Amino acid sequence: MNSDIKEILFTEEMIREMSQKMGQQISYDYKDCDSILLVGLLKGSVPFLAELMKHITVPVTINFIKVSSYVGSESKVLQMKQDLDEDVEGRHILIVEDILDTGRTLKTVKELLVHRGAASVKVATMLDKVEGRVIPFEAEYVGFECPNAFVVGYGLDYNERYRELPYVGVLKEEVYM
Ligand code: 5GP
Ligand code: MG
Repeated sequence: MNSDIKEILFTEEMIREMSQKMGQQISYDYKDCDSILLVGLLKGSVPFLAELMKHITVPVTINFIKVSSYVGSESKVLQMKQDLDEDVEGRHILIVEDILDTGRTLKTVKELLVHRGAASVKVATMLDKVEGRVIPFEAEYVGFECPNAFVVGYGLDYNERYRELPYVGVLKEEVYM
C-alpha cells in the first residue's frame, strides 16, 4: 500500500466485481438500444470507464468532457475545458463519473446534454458521497456509497497525484496539511 494512504476503502477486486454487476444491469436496461454513448468526465473517470465498458454487452462508443469548477464571487462556477467532438442529438448517453459529491458537476453536465437533444441521459458513478450533496441529484447507477472523507486512487487525485492507485483509499491528513 502507498505510504500516503491511511486506509483502503475499495480494493481493485471489489471495484471489478461491482463494475461487472453494474455492467450487467446497464446491458439489461439498454438492451433495446442500438448503442450507448459513454461520456466520461476527465480525468477521474478514466479507470472506472475502462473497467465498466468491458462488462456492457450493448455496443458502446466513448467520448469525453472536461469541466472544472472554481469559486467565483457568489458561488462555484463550472467551466467547460474540453467539449465533446460529436453531435449528441438522438443519442442514448450514459455519463460516467468517479465520484458524486455536491451534485453540481453532474447536474450541470446532464442538463447540458439534455438541452442538446440527447434521447436519454443517465449517470453511472463509481462512488457516491451521499452526505456531500448541496443540490438534489441522484445517479441511476451507483457503485459504492462513500464516507465523507477525502479519497484518492482509481482515477481520483490530490493535486493530480494518486490517480494510478489500483484501489480507492483515504489520504493521510498530513499529506494535505
Ligand atoms: P461535485 O459533485 O461536487 O460537483 O463534483 C464531484 C467532483 O469533485 C469529482 O469529480 C471530484 O473531482 C471531486 N471530488 C469530490 N470528492 C472528492 C474526493 O473525496 N476525492 C477526490 N479526489 N475528488 C473529489
Ligand atoms: Mg472529477
